[in-house]
Amino acid sequence: MPRVDAVPPGHARIKVTACGLCGTDLHLLEGMRLPPGASYPVVPGHEVAGTVAELGPDTEDLLPVGTPVVLHSLAACGECRNCHDGRPGDCAGGEVLGLHRPGGLADEVIWPVSRMVAVPGVDPRQAAILADAVATAKRALDRARVPAGGSLCVLGAGGVGTHVLELARLADPTVRLLGVVRSPASAQRLEDAGFAAAVSGADLRGKGPFDAVVDFSGDPAEPARGTRLLRPGGTLVFGSVLEGELALGSAQRVQVRELTVTGVYSSSMADLRAVARLATSGVLDLSASVTHTVPLAEAPRAFATLAARPPGMVRVVVVADNFTNL
Ligand SMILES: [Zn+2]
Ligand SMILES: [Zn+2]
Repeated sequence: MPRVDAVPPGHARIKVTACGLCGTDLHLLEGMRLPPGASYPVVPGHEVAGTVAELGPDTEDLLPVGTPVVLHSLAACGECRNCHDGRPGDCAGGEVLGLHRPGGLADEVIWPVSRMVAVPGVDPRQAAILADAVATAKRALDRARVPAGGSLCVLGAGGVGTHVLELARLADPTVRLLGVVRSPASAQRLEDAGFAAAVSGADLRGKGPFDAVVDFSGDPAEPARGTRLLRPGGTLVFGSVLEGELALGSAQRVQVRELTVTGVYSSSMADLRAVARLATSGVLDLSASVTHTVPLAEAPRAFATLAARPPGMVRVVVVADNFTNL
């Protein structure tokens, strides 16, 4: 790992404590096509928690050395039209941690201080998964616009979808929730957490209709199932990474019921700050979400686990080799 010696203006050197893995990291290992501006070799890892080790020039003293932080994975340019319009997620000049710039499967990373949030007192493994698995779930829930006391079904309640359920329950304990998963073991995991659950493929008639359906299943057949589960005026939030066309089932159903279909992609700093607040205040307990912890020296084992998707897996987190408390 080449060490970058000088910390550029506005940046900090972060000593990595924990780094969550997600599907994108597996795709990288398989040599996926990279977004414009990125090239191999890549140091993966975009769910990064660590401590501020060194501050570069022009960094306000908001996050002093020693502060535990979680990094937002996008370093937006801050100057383009989308950045000015408050849509840094659409910044064409933005750089992604673990794609354009070396990510968290390393001892340290260099990252803009403006794209970090302090997470005092949060277990670093839980802090790491806030960055994507939880912040993206927050964004999906916001886009679902579930009315007070309404209902929400999550198709693919795994690494991200589980957190949609958690955040929905925190926001409104009266919302009726259903998580749909692949295996009976995952259904049991959801039920142990107090959620109604069904195994995908099961007959969901009688379970709906729902005000909103969020799909993180990665299954091309699920969006059409989602529109079937919606009440008139309902919203489908599509968050799966899929190649090819999006199939929504009956055109008439979408039209006559006046359904809303929206995508969700990644998250904003506001989303990350919101979930970090929930974690630091102790309201959001993610201990059940970190199902696998692997030291950095054994990172290949973490990838193997992620690829095998053992029943009940939620998130695989790689930790610094000196991480205690395993
Ligand atoms: Zn991810
Ligand atoms: Zn920009």
